[in-house]
Amino acid sequence: DYDAVIIATGPLTTPELLDSLKRYISDKGLLYFYDAISPIITFDSIDMNYAFFGSRYKKGSDDYINCPLNKEEYDALYNEIINAELYTPHIDEDLRFFEGCLPVEEIAKRGYKSLSFGPFKPVGLGYDKNNMPYAVVQLRRENKAGTLYSVVAFQTRMKYGAQERVLKKIPALRNCEIVRFGQMHRNIYLNSPIVLQKNLSLKGNERVFIAGTLTGVEGYVEAAASGIMVAHSVRAYLDRREFEPPPDMTAMGLLYRYITGEIKIGREFNPSNINKGLFLHNKERRYSERLAHNALKLFMDYASTIKKYYL
Ligand SMILES: Cc1cc2nc3c(=O)[nH]c(=O)nc-3n(C[C@H](O)[C@H](O)[C@H](O)COP(=O)(O)OP(=O)(O)OC[C@H]3O[C@@H](n4cnc5c(N)ncnc54)[C@H](O)[C@@H]3O)c2cc1C
Repeated sequence: DYDAVIIATGPLTTPELLDSLKRYISDKGLLYFYDAISPIITFDSIDMNYAFFGSRYKKGSDDYINCPLNKEEYDALYNEIINAELYTPHIDEDLRFFEGCLPVEEIAKRGYKSLSFGPFKPVGLGYDKNNMPYAVVQLRRENKAGTLYSVVAFQTRMKYGAQERVLKKIPALRNCEIVRFGQMHRNIYLNSPIVLQKNLSLKGNERVFIAGTLTGVEGYVEAAASGIMVAHSVRAYLDRREFEPPPDMTAMGLLYRYITGEIKIGREFNPSNINKGLFLHNKERRYSERLAHNALKLFMDYASTIKKYYL
């Protein structure tokens, strides 16, 4: 008994709600991927004799602590990661991970140097070329007081004992105290191009609108952007007019076109954040400042056009 309802229950939507959604969408309409979070350790347990503060390329504030590793230490860490015992999900299905946030053990499996040339690369941290460590593991401040730090790019599904053994291979973390272990999550999202109408409501029930990461957008900003679009769309629905999405070639407009299936990247519909690739789906060869300026102008024009509906 409602005019319109917005479902924005996110990647960990409860099974009960999913069951009721299944009344309006087919099995093909429901997708999933796995991702994981990193362990969090206490600042007091970090040995600062083997670590130092500083953000990569001096970007942002000094919210990071860097833990350098020589080749021998990297070897020991890498071997421990590769051989770590892993949790497996209870459901019998493929473990599909989000490429943008792979567990550390998945990255390690891709090759010996995948970490030292990837998230543990020692560049941009003030070393001169001849005096670089082999790799650097970064820790990121997790609270205002600076008492808790997460291990960057260490999202993992290792068993708890294994996480402890692995982290203790890092000289600065030999005595680390883990207050929250890394864990894996099963994230749900809809196959939006086949289940959503152009106004972001379900094809199976025009009064049910979907917002947030459930639509296949990925990230905090994107989830919020999706919520804003759906709010405008619901208003249009209640006013009995057509929803006017943000213009193509703006970040929000491109995200909208991605989830409604106008823009296709790859064979399957995968969650996407706002990225330069979306801007290049047209004939644009390169993301440029011109595109960014143009997007801003288009968006401001759009905002002033839709303002009239709210006066
Ligand atoms: C563990 C984890 C860490 C993440 N970290 C990041 C990050 O660092 N940066 C980033 O950009 N993105 C991150 N994401 C991805 C994603 O951007 C965020 O999850 C984002 O908060 C999703 O926004 P949302 O509004 O879609 O859902 P959520 O923020 O998850 O909000 C959904 C809400 O609905 C509630 N809910 C669920 N089921 C029901 C129900 N049946 N009835 C009523 N309420 C219900 C939930 O309790 C929750 O409060 C992370 C995701 C996870 C799972």
